[in-house]
Parts: sequence; C-alpha cells; structure tokens
Amino acid sequence: MATGITRVGVYPGSFDPVTYGHLDIVERAAKLFDWLYVAVLRNPRKKPCFSTEERVEMLRMATADYPNVVCESFDGLAAEYARSRGAQAIVRGLRAVSDFEAEFKMAAMNRHLEPDIETVFLVPAGQYTFVSSSVIREVAAFGGDVRALVPDFVHERLMERLSMQKGERPE
Ligand code: ADP
Repeated sequence: MATGITRVGVYPGSFDPVTYGHLDIVERAAKLFDWLYVAVLRNPRKKPCFSTEERVEMLRMATADYPNVVCESFDGLAAEYARSRGAQAIVRGLRAVSDFEAEFKMAAMNRHLEPDIETVFLVPAGQYTFVSSSVIREVAAFGGDVRALVPDFVHERLMERLSMQKGERPE
C-alpha cells in the first residue's frame, strides 16, 4: 500500500574504517527506508585512523551497489543531523548486551532532543557480532588476518596506513 510518505533513515557512526558488520546493517536498513544516509561524525575530540573524507570515500565505495544509500559527514548532534535530512529514524547496530547500555542512553537523549525521531536497532548476522572497527585496527596492527571482515580495498588501505604509522614511531 502506497502511503505517500518518503521513509528516511540516518545511520551515524565513526566508521573508522567501515567493516562488514557496518555493511550488514546498511543492507538491512536500505530495505526498510526509501533513503538511507550513512553519516560519519566529525569528532574533533577523537584522533581517528582515517580522516573524515577517507572514511566517507570508503563508505561510498562499499555501498556503491545500493542506489538509495547516500554517504556523507556531519558535525554536532546526530539528532539534529537526522532532522536536517527529514529522517523519521536513526539506525544503530546492536552487537551484544555490551552495546546496549550506551545505545539505550543515546536513544533516550536523542528522543529528548527530537521526540518525533525514533531509534531503530538492527542486529547483524551472527558472524559479525564480534566485529568492531577498533578491534579490526588492533588485530591488523599486530599482524592478524582481518581480510574476511572488511572489503578488500579497506584492507589494503588499512595495511598502508598501519605501515605508515609504524614508520613514524621510534622503536
Ligand atoms: P565501532 O567503532 O564500534 O565499529 P561505529 O561508531 O563505527 O563503532 O558504529 C556505528 C554504529 O554501527 C553503532 O551503532 C555500532 O553499534 C554499529 N556497529 C558497528 N559494528 C557493528 C557490527 N559488527 N554489527 C552491527 N552493528 C555494528
């Protein structure tokens, strides 16, 4: 039944870098919304492995097959950003109980800020429940094989970045 409402979701995060866990959530959310904005938070307080522009570019490459997914960056509050895009919902991924507390607080705060915007939690396929960007960076830095957990081009860039960082550090 056509309702005439354009359903818009925003999926905010750090995506430093994008993993198959993130992409699992993108795939599910892209089916639920007419438009899905996947958005990298510019966070001046964090020192990321990849710049905001690099993270957006990798997201664009990784989501190129989804015609209704738009990748970009945003500053400030996710709730305000969601409103600026006309979104009905903020999408977040829930991997485990350990994600729950922080996500629950964030969802409550976002509802306080924007009462009309819902938070929708999606659960990834079982094999991605242990995947996070930080674990991927850490395991890769110690020479662990993370090729099954990120797209090939992300893996290449991660290897390049880690070897650059090694070169910078005095032993
Ligand atoms: P992280 O550094 O933990 O990957 P992000 O800020 O990039 O965190 O995550 C953005 C959103 O994606 C969060 O809602 C996070 O819970 C979710 N997410 C991250 N990795 C996964 C995964 N493997 N499966 C499901 N959701 C995930």
